[in-house]
Amino acid sequence: MNKYEGLTASEGSAVGPIHIIQSHSPELEQAKISQEQVQQEISRYTRAVQDYELELLALLKKLKGTASEIIQSQALILQDEQIKAEIISRIRQEQESAARAVQSIYGKYIERLRDSASNMFKQRIIDLITIQDRLVEWVLGESTTKQVPIGSIVVAKELSPTDVVTLVESKVKGLVLEKGGLTAHAAIVAQSLEIPCLVQVGRFMDYNTLEGVGILDGAEGVLITQPDDATIQHYEQIIEVARTERQRIKPSKAPSQTKDGTRVSIQANIEFIQELDHATKVRAEGIGLVRTEALLYGGITHKSEKEQDLYYGRLLEDSAGPVVIRLFDVGGDKLHVLTPDESNPFLGWRGIRMLLDEHDMLHSQLRSILKCAGKFPSRIRILAPMVTNIEEVKRLKTEVAKVQEELANAGHPIDREVPVGIMVEVPAVAIMADSFAKEADFFSIGTNDLTQYTLAVDRTNDQVGGLFQHDHPAIWLLIREVVSAAKSNGIEVSVCGELASDLLGASALIGLGFRELSMKPSSILKVKGWIREFDLETFEAFAKDACGANDRKGVYQAFRKRFYPS
Ligand code: PEP
Ligand code: MG
Repeated sequence: MNKYEGLTASEGSAVGPIHIIQSHSPELEQAKISQEQVQQEISRYTRAVQDYELELLALLKKLKGTASEIIQSQALILQDEQIKAEIISRIRQEQESAARAVQSIYGKYIERLRDSASNMFKQRIIDLITIQDRLVEWVLGESTTKQVPIGSIVVAKELSPTDVVTLVESKVKGLVLEKGGLTAHAAIVAQSLEIPCLVQVGRFMDYNTLEGVGILDGAEGVLITQPDDATIQHYEQIIEVARTERQRIKPSKAPSQTKDGTRVSIQANIEFIQELDHATKVRAEGIGLVRTEALLYGGITHKSEKEQDLYYGRLLEDSAGPVVIRLFDVGGDKLHVLTPDESNPFLGWRGIRMLLDEHDMLHSQLRSILKCAGKFPSRIRILAPMVTNIEEVKRLKTEVAKVQEELANAGHPIDREVPVGIMVEVPAVAIMADSFAKEADFFSIGTNDLTQYTLAVDRTNDQVGGLFQHDHPAIWLLIREVVSAAKSNGIEVSVCGELASDLLGASALIGLGFRELSMKPSSILKVKGWIREFDLETFEAFAKDACGANDRKGVYQAFRKRFYPS
């Protein structure tokens, strides 16, 4: 029996025969086409684009939420006028076949993304490779729809979102990827389609052992190969129990509260305006985190203040409840292309550090947010990323007051009470939460970065992905301090990191006293439904166990004991 550790990108476990998918872009002939063939190749290419588009439209009918947005964005890339023009001109000028021209032009854009220092952009490489390879298949008229046995566990280096949908359609039971991150598109689609999925599995995976039956254990984040009969039986039982549990826990649109009536407000994390729709459908009780970096994708000056005004205006108009707008969190893994080269960007010029130096950028964002706050009084809250020093909070508040004065003088209505809060995502702030609570108007705990900085694990580094444990007891102990400091100083505290969106995480957080959690819209119904199943004292007992555990294993054991007693 072998065990390969990874990260659970989509919950659940599965037992089934292992099926390996080896994917690679096809090798094409280098010879030039003749002048007479040029028109024919151009028509081949345009027909392939149409066929591929129809395929994506068919996929779209099967998807909802973020997964469908991913496929829509693939369709947009496919129809991009500039890419199309470049491919056609390549066929004409260089006399390349349609298939080769597709590879040349997509290859150029893929290389550009590879050169980008931004992890967010790098994650999109697999999308471009998928479009490129599928388009080549359509051009060549080769149907390579992956034939996979029903009920198998698929192991692959990487999969595109389209692959995931196709595999789910073919009724596979689970996905195990060597690469990919928790926020990669394939992982998001897997979550949306509710198929168990592990990523970053087995840097040392021995492919010779990958035959016969395998077990995907989503609770522990491992792939087990060549298991004995007793282990298989054990897992089949676990899967059966989980299936019954799932049927018992109906996703609920009712207000979220524990079985004995304690209210917990569940809010949504949003980055793109298109996600608002999903948040509304699942009745998010507010937007607990707006990641505004998407406004900067085209460069620092790309979005004018006017465009920002429109974006924030839409956010407020199309949502209900409070909206927590985080100031640009540039640096680290986000838009690192906009910052100078640094040997360690995560410890460098990031978030509030950059904003306080970049006066124009900060003021333009604050002006836009504060104008909107004047129009929607009492709904907007401003959140500062990557705070480490109290001085930063004081300086930010001074800048907010200055901008408010300017706006008032120019005749804009002003909400003087707009709260200015901070992300608690650096251990220094958690440790000194009591002092920070005297300066900040509210706390929002960013468990993604808090985990990275506490456990000294780069959140984007596959090599140490298994050590990125946001449910590590050290994190619970820090969070416990933060919630207690917030309570004793009478300020609000919520969690907007990924921890809030898994059932174990949400359970311990509620037990620790949180009454506001913010998460991706696709997790909201699941978490609401779960909360309604148990009394507050069960959550509290589990939170105590989590804080007292020696390691993550202990936390998982306690979770099973409290919530799945046999
Ligand atoms: C976090 O760090 O937990 C967080 C919510 O912010 P981001 O993931 O955008 O850094
Ligand atoms: Mg963060």
